[in-house]
Amino acid sequence: MRLTCPHCGPRDRREFTWSGDAVALARPAREADPAEWDAYLHLRDNPAGATRDLWYHDPCGAFIVADRDTVTHAVHATTLATTLAAKVAAKVAR
Ligand SMILES: [Zn+2]
Repeated sequence: MRLTCPHCGPRDRREFTWSGDAVALARPAREADPAEWDAYLHLRDNPAGATRDLWYHDPCGAFIVADRDTVTHAVHATTLATTLAAKVAAKVAR
């Protein structure tokens, strides 16, 4: 599998470290209900198919979000995590 780092271009998967489900970018508000925090911290889906997860690119230190398919191993898109986190924060602030 190859992932495209927005800084470095297409790279072999061995340069990346999987860092979990991209739901980590949608952190609940500090005062959120404990059940919401429990779901954020502990509950994850394990889909066969489309998924969105975080990867750390070791050579440049960037976190990227990869939209990929766990069945076909196709990578549909990669985005800097900071770009998506800013969009999530903007939605929460509304
Ligand atoms: Zn990179």
